[in-house]
Amino acid sequence: LTTLSAHSNKFNYKEAYQRLNYLYQAAHCVLAQNPENVELARFYCFSQKTIAKRLVLRQDPSVKRTLCKRCCSLLIPGVTATTRQKRNKTRFTVMRCLSCGQRKTLLNNPDYCLWADRAEAQLEQQKQKDTKNDGSQTSKPSSAPGATST
Ligand SMILES: [Zn+2]
Repeated sequence: LTTLSAHSNKFNYKEAYQRLNYLYQAAHCVLAQNPENVELARFYCFSQKTIAKRLVLRQDPSVKRTLCKRCCSLLIPGVTATTRQKRNKTRFTVMRCLSCGQRKTLLNNPDYCLWADRAEAQLEQQKQKDTKNDGSQTSKPSSAPGATST
């Protein structure tokens, strides 16, 4: 993971973005395969975040939305996070990281692409193998047991 050198003169931003994208996709993949792979997914996200930070790359908002600010977990509703809808004048989604309890308030924007749509689109662009595992995109926290501690 350290092949990306910020000191290189011939720094390739496109490559860097691809790397970030790859790490992000990988995090989704491991969680899709096994929801208990939280640590591995976090490792990918942490690497992704670290690289982005080091290289001062702007992250896609849809990526930011799904990363825990505190512990770098990949936040997937019903898997690694719980969501709760809030309605005032505007609609919010409050996402809570199950690993560390960090809350994230997201404004519901109907124009926003869900990560799944985006991820799929990207996968199709890359024309990777036919590994379309229709990610169980559960938007309901169902019976997530709230918290371990506050
Ligand atoms: Zn967290």
